[in-house]
Amino acid sequence: MGRILFVSNRIEKVQQYASIFSQKQYEFVTSCDENSVLEILSVNVADVIIFDDSLPGVKQIMKKVKSIEPTSAIILLTSLHSPDQELLKYTNAFLTENMSEGLILATVSVNLKTKSSLEQLSDTNKNLADSLYRLNVLYSTSSQFAGSLDKKKLIDYMIEGLDKSLSFGLTCTLCTDSEPVLILNSLYEISDELLSAIKVRTVLNYKSLFEDKTPPFEIDAESLKVVKNVKYPANRFTFSLFQYDNMFAPISLGENFFGCIEIFKETPFTSDDATCFQTIAQQVSLPLKSATLYQEIKETNLKLEKLERLKSEFISIVSHELRTPLTAIKNSLDIMTSGKCGELNEAGGKFLSMAQRNVQRLSGIINDLLDLSKIEAGKMDYHFANINIHSVIDYVMLSLSGLAKEKGLNLIAEETLDLPEIFADAQRLEQVLTNLVSNAIKFTPEGKTIIIRSHIADATQLVSHECFREDLKKLSGQYIVVCVEDQGIGIAEKDLMRAFDKFAQIENSLSRKVGGSGLGLPIAKQLLEAHNGAIWCDSELEKGSKFYFAIPVAEAKVLLAH
Ligand code: ADP
Repeated sequence: MGRILFVSNRIEKVQQYASIFSQKQYEFVTSCDENSVLEILSVNVADVIIFDDSLPGVKQIMKKVKSIEPTSAIILLTSLHSPDQELLKYTNAFLTENMSEGLILATVSVNLKTKSSLEQLSDTNKNLADSLYRLNVLYSTSSQFAGSLDKKKLIDYMIEGLDKSLSFGLTCTLCTDSEPVLILNSLYEISDELLSAIKVRTVLNYKSLFEDKTPPFEIDAESLKVVKNVKYPANRFTFSLFQYDNMFAPISLGENFFGCIEIFKETPFTSDDATCFQTIAQQVSLPLKSATLYQEIKETNLKLEKLERLKSEFISIVSHELRTPLTAIKNSLDIMTSGKCGELNEAGGKFLSMAQRNVQRLSGIINDLLDLSKIEAGKMDYHFANINIHSVIDYVMLSLSGLAKEKGLNLIAEETLDLPEIFADAQRLEQVLTNLVSNAIKFTPEGKTIIIRSHIADATQLVSHECFREDLKKLSGQYIVVCVEDQGIGIAEKDLMRAFDKFAQIENSLSRKVGGSGLGLPIAKQLLEAHNGAIWCDSELEKGSKFYFAIPVAEAKVLLAH
C-alpha cells in the first residue's frame, strides 16, 4: 500500500502509529534521529514521512529530508495550535495528538494518492518532454538533410541525429559509395578483436539484405576500409558488444542502395527508439539519392565543358591552319584571273572563276567557325559606340544589291526616319544583317522582293512565335527592331527554333544547292545577346520568312560598357 517512515522519540506514539498502520498492510519503519533517518532513506524511499514536532532538531532533519527526497509526502504530527512557521514550508499535511485512527489513516491515504498522482503526472510530463525533444531532433536533422548535397555530410548528420535522440554506445555505418567504407562512431576505443568481430558482423548483415540476389559490392571483412570516430579514446569497451541491445536498418530508396547501419546501446531500446531509428535511416535515403544525381550531373557537366573546350580549341586551331593556305590559293587565283600570268582560254577562265567562288565560300565558312569559337571562348572583341541603324542598313544594301540583282531579286529598304541611336558594334550588326539578307537572297526564287524594315518599339509590343517567347521575355524598354522579309521558300513551324542551332541546315528544296555552314544564325544570336538584344523569326512554307532582331536604344550604353 505504501511505505511510511515515522520519525519520533516518543515510545507511546511509535507504538500507537505502528499498530494503526500494520493492520492496514502499510510498510511501517521508524526512526528517532537524523542519522538513522538518512540511513533508512538511503536504502529505500519512503512514500510518506511523518515527523513528530516534539523531536529535538526536527526542523533540521525535515530540511535535509526534503532536499534528498523531494517527492515524499511530509506530514507533521503536532500538539501545537500554531506550529513553527518554518516547519510549514516542508509540510504537506498535519496530524494532531488526539486525532482518531480513521482520520489518521485518511490523511495518510489522501497524501499517498496525491503523491502517486503527482508521480504519474511527472512521468507523463517527462515522456512528453522526451517526445518533444525527439521531434525537435528529427526536425533539425531533416532540415540538415534538406540543406546538403554532400554524401559525407549527410551520413554525419544522420549519426549526429541518432546520437542526440538515442545516445548510442556505437554505430557501424556501412557506406557503399565509390568503394565500401565502414564508419564507426563509438563512445570508447575499440580493441582489434572487437573491430574484427564488427567487420565480420557488418559484412554478414550486408549480405543478408540481398538474400539470393547478388549484392552491388563484393565486400570482404578483412580488407574492408574503416573510419573510426571515438568520443572518449581514453576509455575502451571492456566487454562483448553482444551484451548490448542493437538495431539494424538498410539505407536505401527503391532500387538505390546506399548502405546499412547497426546501432548498439547498453540499455534496451524501446519501440519509440526503433521508430526514431528507422525514420532517420529512411529520411537520409532521399537526400543521398539527390546527392548521387547531383554528383553525376556535376561530373557529366565537367566532361561536357572539357569536350566543349577541346572542340572550340580544335576548331580554332584547324581554322587558323586552313586560313593561311587558303589565302595563298586565293591570291594565286586572283593573279591568274587578272591575266598577269598570260592570257587564259575560255575553259581555263571558267574553271578559275569556279575555283575563286569556292575559295570565297570556304573562307566564309572558316571565318564563321573562327567567329563562333571566339564568341564561345568569350574572346570576341566588340567596339561599342553610339551608332545609327540607318548606316548599318545602308552598308548592307550597298554590298548586297549587286548579288540580289544578279539573282533577279528586288532588294529594298523601308525605314522609319530619324530613329534614335543605339549603342552597338556597327561591324557586328552589319555581319548579322548581311547574314539575314544573304539567306533571304539564297532562299528566294527569282523575281520576288526582299524588304529591310526598321522601326522603334517597346519590349511589351514585340510579338513572336511562342517558341521565341522566353527570349523576348528578357527584354524591357525601347528597342530598334530590324526585319528582313522575303517571299522565299519559308521554314516549317517545327523547324523555326532549329534554324538557330549550330550547324543546322533545314532540309528543303534549295538547301543542298545553295550550301552553307549552318553557323550564320547561331552567330547572329550570340552577337545579339552580347548587345542585350534578341533575334527571332516568323515563317510560312512557300510564302516567305521574316527575320527580326532588336537592339536596345542608346540608354543601355552604361550597362554594356561595364
Ligand atoms: P547557312 O549558312 O547554312 O545559311 P544559317 O545559320 O544562316 O546557315 O541558316 C540555317 C538554316 O536556316 C539554313 O540552312 C536554312 O535552312 C534556314 N534559313 C535561314 N534563313 C532562311 C530564309 N530566309 N528562308 C528559308 N530558310 C532559311
